[in-house]
Amino acid sequence: ERSGRRSQTAEKLNISFEFFPPKTPKMEENLWACVKRLAPLCPDFVSVTYGAGGSTRERTHATVERIITETHVPAAAHLTCVGATKAEVNEVVESYAACGVKHIVALRGDPADGVGSKYVPHADGYVNAADLVAGIRDIGGFEVSVSAYPEKHPESPDFATDIEMLRQKVDAGATRAITQFFFDNDLYEAYVERARRAGIFIPIVPGILPIHNFVQMANFAGRTGASVPQWLANRFEGLDNDPETHRLVAAAIAAEQVNDLHERGVDDFHFYTMNRANLSYAICHLLGMRPVAV
Ligand code: FAD
Repeated sequence: ERSGRRSQTAEKLNISFEFFPPKTPKMEENLWACVKRLAPLCPDFVSVTYGAGGSTRERTHATVERIITETHVPAAAHLTCVGATKAEVNEVVESYAACGVKHIVALRGDPADGVGSKYVPHADGYVNAADLVAGIRDIGGFEVSVSAYPEKHPESPDFATDIEMLRQKVDAGATRAITQFFFDNDLYEAYVERARRAGIFIPIVPGILPIHNFVQMANFAGRTGASVPQWLANRFEGLDNDPETHRLVAAAIAAEQVNDLHERGVDDFHFYTMNRANLSYAICHLLGMRPVAV
């Protein structure tokens, strides 16, 4: 029984892991070591990202297909609509269906000229993520998840606009939102409250980013609208060349964040693994999850 090996606290948890499609044989080897380490924890699903503009189209497909073929874990495929016609996007949806994918994480994607430049939909394309969700629902046969931004998306002028976009995605048929990573649980809780007040009742699953490299993460966060609190920077101070301590500190911080969310009543967690198993595995262990022989 899937949940039979989970401790009591872990019994009602819903866990998912996110991977990115590998570029090189070495990266592929790393990814598979990671998948094989995490799969025995029996996540509810794992997901594989999709390069905006279709840059990873084949690699995303191949990765998802291999997960479906070689593991018992349900795999979700991400899909973006930026820079593509509806026909091209629909073709990807059909190819996902053909290899057994039943869950799509539907995203608009970043503008071709990078974050911060103005998003212009393809003339024959889906205009935004909500339109893409509707298109996938029209094709049928998929559960659809979407993004959510506890600190609002960088393009959103205010929270009301941001929540309105989420509502449009839900109205179009999305049944789960997964958040951008964040480090301040109060921000997440406030966002969920705003969404509930606006009549949005789908699960809004916190996206947890275990910090494998603080400096890289801090650079990346700036572009995603996720803030890096000073207390977090302080905790990693002086650890740039001390990977062992960095790892221990990162595990403690993520465990603290996840436990606090759990105490606040959150039972669903999505981990941005960065194709590395160790931190996500340790945090799941702390949550009471244990591997099952399959
Ligand atoms: P939307 O939900 O459509 O919009 C995001 C926000 O932008 C909205 O809340 C809205 O307030 C604002 N906005 C959008 N349009 C307008 C407008 N016209 N006027 C005013 N405000 C507007 N990217 C990838 O390339 N590949 C992936 O696999 C991928 N996976 C992701 C998974 C998750 C869980 C998350 C959180 C993000 C992911 N992204 C991925 C990043 C995502 O593509 C970018 O953040 C992108 O900029 C927005 O796409 P979206 O679907 O979130 O957009």
